Amino acid sequence: MLPAFDNTEIAFRYRTDKDLKQARFLFSSMGSPTLTSIGMWATKLAMGWNLPVEGLIKSTIYRQFCGGETMEEAARVANVLAKYKVGVIMDYGVEGKEGEAEFDKAVPEFVKAVKYAASQQNIPFISLKVTGFARFGLLEKIHSGATLTAGEQAEWDRVYNRVHTICKAAFENNIMVLIDAEETWIQEPVNLLTDAMMELYNKEKAIVFNTFQMYAHGTLPYLKQSYEISSSKGYILGAKLVRGAYMEKERERGMKMGYPSPIQPDKASTDRDYDAGVLFCLERLDKVALFIGTHNEKSCLLAATYMDEHGIAHNTPKVWFSQLYGMSDNISFNLADAGYNVAKYLPYGPVKDVVPYLMRRAQENTSVAGQTGRELSLINKEMKRRRLS
Ligand SMILES: Cc1cc2nc3c(=O)[nH]c(=O)nc-3n(C[C@H](O)[C@H](O)[C@H](O)COP(=O)(O)OP(=O)(O)OC[C@H]3O[C@@H](n4cnc5c(N)ncnc54)[C@H](O)[C@@H]3O)c2cc1C
Repeated sequence: MLPAFDNTEIAFRYRTDKDLKQARFLFSSMGSPTLTSIGMWATKLAMGWNLPVEGLIKSTIYRQFCGGETMEEAARVANVLAKYKVGVIMDYGVEGKEGEAEFDKAVPEFVKAVKYAASQQNIPFISLKVTGFARFGLLEKIHSGATLTAGEQAEWDRVYNRVHTICKAAFENNIMVLIDAEETWIQEPVNLLTDAMMELYNKEKAIVFNTFQMYAHGTLPYLKQSYEISSSKGYILGAKLVRGAYMEKERERGMKMGYPSPIQPDKASTDRDYDAGVLFCLERLDKVALFIGTHNEKSCLLAATYMDEHGIAHNTPKVWFSQLYGMSDNISFNLADAGYNVAKYLPYGPVKDVVPYLMRRAQENTSVAGQTGRELSLINKEMKRRRLS
């Protein structure tokens, strides 16, 4: 049977009344573009001046979207979700750290997360961003096709080794690794690195997944090309499909630098390619593992319906649905209740280091038409149901 995404009793089983009240306050505030802009501006300023705002951030937006400051804190959240058969993707959410020492320091943190995940029932994935291990400028240069100096080549070799250490640990512990996608102007080296890891570790099953941002008009053809390459080389394509989180930034850069935006002309085109990508993968599950990262109910229903119509078991290890922690619980918990594989992205890390992630969430919940309204109406519906029951 297909899941009903409006069942709020199932969606919010793990949230107390107080949690729901706080979530309602947060989503109402984020729904106002003015409040969000002021909040983001004030946070940046306060963090820059080292003002003591971490407590405030932690008890509001951080609490909604993050698991905790340490892996152990995040593990407590993971244990709660496990009760409802909802899995977790450990996402060490530290962003924007530059420098070789910082990049090296991050590797054992990820290996630790892999080992911890392997010791738990409901943590099948970890995720990583290549910018957590590489200088942005280096990635940009490789993407542009310019020749690297000997020093830069050595720097790139170190990036490879860092990511390889994590993927190898993941392979040895049977934990899957999602390599996130970021700005399109650094994507080429991310693809190169991810393809190399998939070729090494995806022979029997998908351990490593690349991310395909379907808001870029070149991505659907690239997904098909990746499939051709993986098939011809004899490894399984791990395909994480998202719409894409950097639309404004992508368009602004294109305008500023005078090149055509890589982003689709409109939302409908992104939706069309997203769903086409989902079906493309579902039709080839013998050689593809699919990770559907979206809060879009239609796309989730499309995949769930296809699986039902084609006799694909809900819990096939080849298909995963995923939403971010703190968002679209109505999709996650109802899909999990209907037996589909679901895992929530659960970022963790020191408050100040996950601020860029939180800013994206705030912006998304303001700029994505309908999302905040949807969250609010579901929360209100559940609060009312609890009052009357
Ligand atoms: C589990 C998970 C993992 C994620 N990992 C990544 C990642 O690695 N990299 C990444 O970039 N993002 C990632 N995201 C974020 C994702 O890309 C989207 O920004 C977010 O999920 C909103 O898209 P949607 O499919 O959920 O919902 P929807 O509300 O259906 O779609 C909103 C999205 O549609 C696109 N869109 C909106 N308006 C337009 C327009 N006018 N023209 C063209 N396109 C438009 C944008 O991508 C926008 O974010 C992830 C999301 C999830 C749930």
